[in-house]
Amino acid sequence: MSSQTKKIIIFFGPPGSGKGTQADILGAKLFLPVISPGELLRHERDKGTKLGKEVAVLMAKGKLVPNKIIEKLIDNRLAKKDIDNGYILDGYPRQKEQLLFLIKRFEKTLSKKDLVVAIYLKAKNSSIIKRIAGRRVCSCGASFHIKTNPPKKFGICDQCGAKLYRRKDDAPQVVRTRLKSFSLRIKPILAYFKKEKSLITIDGERSIKNVTKEIDKKIKNYIK
Ligand code: AMP
Repeated sequence: MSSQTKKIIIFFGPPGSGKGTQADILGAKLFLPVISPGELLRHERDKGTKLGKEVAVLMAKGKLVPNKIIEKLIDNRLAKKDIDNGYILDGYPRQKEQLLFLIKRFEKTLSKKDLVVAIYLKAKNSSIIKRIAGRRVCSCGASFHIKTNPPKKFGICDQCGAKLYRRKDDAPQVVRTRLKSFSLRIKPILAYFKKEKSLITIDGERSIKNVTKEIDKKIKNYIK
């Protein structure tokens, strides 16, 4: 049995760096739920809830949703029982205030034996733009790429059989806004995890398989 009671793994990276894909792969291996505010918000938006309507315009423009909303979303999600052994965060924290909120939560809920590790998938803007152009997603949360990770059946989700679509915020102009927002806010977050000696940096430009291999290799140094 593992001597770490809880494992918290946080994925960082620009949009399209593959963090969602890698978070899902690692989550399945470690039996940890993946928590992605972006996914939770898309779900609310697609259901047409009050919250979903409130955030839809900001999301379509690639702008960040206000912290108060994200905090509530995270708090509600982390109140569920399935996080007892830990969880994987994808797309959170995204700015300093969110990092401070998370650290406070760690102080309240984690012990010294627990693991917190951050994985940063690095990728150049030019590669991201190319990658996002081929991204197709499903409302169930699955994500594909027309060349590097195609579904078995063209335009159809492997997992649930629904029709794949292009995210509105994957339009080139919106991607540029999202990339700018990412590079503007990520530095203090990475600096924090580096100082804590819990930052793993991975070249996110390689194939899904090779990125997974490198994550597996490097995370072994942290997981006991
Ligand atoms: P993602 O799926 O991570 O690319 O997120 C999609 C969109 O959801 C973002 O462009 C933001 O509008 C919103 N969003 C996701 N995560 C956050 C966050 N941590 N803080 C604020 N807004 C977020």
